[in-house]
Amino acid sequence: MIHKSASEYFPERSRIAVLTTEPVGVLDYLAPEGGVRRGQLVRVPLGPRRVLGMVWGEGKGDFDLAKLRPVGRAIEAEPFSPGFIDFLTRAADYTLTLPPLMLRMATRAPDLDRPPAARRVIVPAGDPPARMTEARSQVLRVIADHGGASFAPSELAQLAGVGVSVVKGLVAQGTLAEIEAPRDVPYPRLDPALPGKPLAADQQSAADTLRAAIRAGGYGTTLLRGVTGSGKTEVYLEAVAECLAQGRQALVLLPEIALSAEFLERVEARFGARPGEWHSGITRTERRRLWHMAGRGDVGLVVGARSALFLPFRDLGLIVVDEEHDSSYKQEDVVFYNARDMAVLRASICGAQVVLASATPSLESWVNAGSGKYRRLDLRARYGEAELPDMVAVDLRAEDMPTGRWISPRLAAAVSARIEKGQQSLLFLNRRGFAPVTVCRACGEQIGCHQCDARMVEHRFQNRLVCHQCGETKPIPTACPSCGVEGKLAPVGPGVERIAEEVAALFPQAKATVLSSDLFHSARVLKETIAEISEGDTDIIIGTQIVAKGHNFPRLTLVGVIDADLGLQGADLRAAERSFQLMRQVAGRAGRQKGAEPGVAVLQTHQPDHPVIRAILSGEDEAFWNAEAEGRQAMGMPPFGRLAGIILSHPDLETVAAFARHLAAHAEPLREAGAELWGPAPAPIALIRGRHRMRMLIHAPRQAALQNAIADWLAPHKPPTNLRLSVDIDPQSFL
Ligand code: ADP
Ligand code: ZN
Repeated sequence: MIHKSASEYFPERSRIAVLTTEPVGVLDYLAPEGGVRRGQLVRVPLGPRRVLGMVWGEGKGDFDLAKLRPVGRAIEAEPFSPGFIDFLTRAADYTLTLPPLMLRMATRAPDLDRPPAARRVIVPAGDPPARMTEARSQVLRVIADHGGASFAPSELAQLAGVGVSVVKGLVAQGTLAEIEAPRDVPYPRLDPALPGKPLAADQQSAADTLRAAIRAGGYGTTLLRGVTGSGKTEVYLEAVAECLAQGRQALVLLPEIALSAEFLERVEARFGARPGEWHSGITRTERRRLWHMAGRGDVGLVVGARSALFLPFRDLGLIVVDEEHDSSYKQEDVVFYNARDMAVLRASICGAQVVLASATPSLESWVNAGSGKYRRLDLRARYGEAELPDMVAVDLRAEDMPTGRWISPRLAAAVSARIEKGQQSLLFLNRRGFAPVTVCRACGEQIGCHQCDARMVEHRFQNRLVCHQCGETKPIPTACPSCGVEGKLAPVGPGVERIAEEVAALFPQAKATVLSSDLFHSARVLKETIAEISEGDTDIIIGTQIVAKGHNFPRLTLVGVIDADLGLQGADLRAAERSFQLMRQVAGRAGRQKGAEPGVAVLQTHQPDHPVIRAILSGEDEAFWNAEAEGRQAMGMPPFGRLAGIILSHPDLETVAAFARHLAAHAEPLREAGAELWGPAPAPIALIRGRHRMRMLIHAPRQAALQNAIADWLAPHKPPTNLRLSVDIDPQSFL
């Protein structure tokens, strides 16, 4: 790696090194007319193509200067800041990612180098008529949903799922207008001086601490802990206000896009304007605009998914990671990283504050807060007087449960009582589809995916079998694919769709809604359904883990966990932590509204004495975390020791197994660093999409130079053609 100082300027025709986004990495070129500065993005010739690159420093190669090709003009006047370049470099080092891939992460916006030109956009013009076609109202809804954003006619039509003629019709009618607008307009300024809600005492003291830390400047991380509804969001919005008042930028990461709608409205209510939004659901135009505005400092607050962390913010003063324990912050594809950890890294480089907010922190953050590495702020009560739900267990061993029934009589009685009072119940089961297994009663065959080591899951709403690993689907057969006997295939075990069937039988008058990620084709439809549930007449919500995440259902006063034991099995050391977080979050959905009567959470379990179930029932969360931490410490597991996972995959089992054995036989660099190698063994899912997978785990003491050791170990060994190797530092699963 070449480390260079910031403001370095390279005059026209001097030799420069450019980090490209291609596997070749850094290459020498000639500086363009007018010169360039370090950190500027440029297009560079590479063979017959032109690819994106970033000026990295002075060229060091000995290639004949006369033969070097010049780079194109800089794309942005402003170079990436030295802190941002440093972050990308260190993030690459930490995750063992090649720098070109890291640069790609930082330049994920379309048409970066096309100069902004005026374009035609649609804006609201007049009052809509009282009656309209459904297609036309749909267009107006999209505009209302995206308050402030302007769309090209075709984009708008696409978002609304209608033809462009519908948009043109509204223009002809005068409800909308088509105007010339400059591209890339800065975001409206948020006003940090607008007053927030009057805070409760513990909120106020937490907000004061965060404000003081931001005013003082410099890096720090705070774990902001408090049950759902305790007012954490209100507190970190105060930190955002302080950051904006200091003239710096703020980033709030959320685990779920569907949550962002409610959050954007809260921001607008608090600061008088909408923040920038960054996730897979935004248009190309918005993506491009936000990327540029982040770099120019022309957006004060960005709300986004994990990849927003790789936006080229000019001066980031605060990063909030809401629901910091959430596993969706971990990306396990191409670049393996945890956005929570990368947030801390980025903040430590650019002198920013990090707020990790959660009711159920990750064990890592809990331990870091305990050791003083992070500051810890607790909100003890729910905001207002609303109480935590009462927790009860239903011991399934003692219940009279007919086969094929999953809702115990006690839980059913509780649901009935809610229906009578006009309140909502939530039945939680973290399993999509109708039944996890389809078995042939004639020969015992379980229908599996032909290209994965996984069973096909019956999805009755779609009338298909679906592989949850690769997404492959097929019609539900009538005859067994193995023995050919007709009519003997039977679903085994419950999924949410099956619970919905049981609900329909038990409560024929009730209105039930299933919330499961596979049933929603877009974030917008999911958002609408959630809004309907909050306001509408749903009596029973049946949901997978998407209901666990911060949605606010005011009339919800009963949560039933259909199978509290589901996540407890298995050898993964993180299973207990995960189950605990999920159940605590789900239970927290009940009765969170001020003034409402306290909710009840019912856990159906076969092991009421399991430590996780006991902790959930007793509310002794700290005791649970401390016990978990002790267990991890005794075994030297994260965060007390370090782990890295290596996954190797290849279409041919013997090829991948042989290469894995070869690597294992040459593990001296790992041993020299004090690390041990576990495996190779078949990966937890040993076959995905026709590729056989082997896994190794590297376990090291906390102080070991783990990344260097792994790099030294792997470097000399050339993998066979078509073998994929990925390194996962700090894997989510310890299996
Ligand atoms: P959390 O982020 O911890 O789940 P929120 O900040 O979302 O909690 O607060 C829960 C509910 O209580 C929200 O509806 C919020 O508007 C309300 N609330 C929180 N703090 C206050 C306050 N100080 N004044 C009025 N309402 C508040
Ligand atoms: Zn599959």
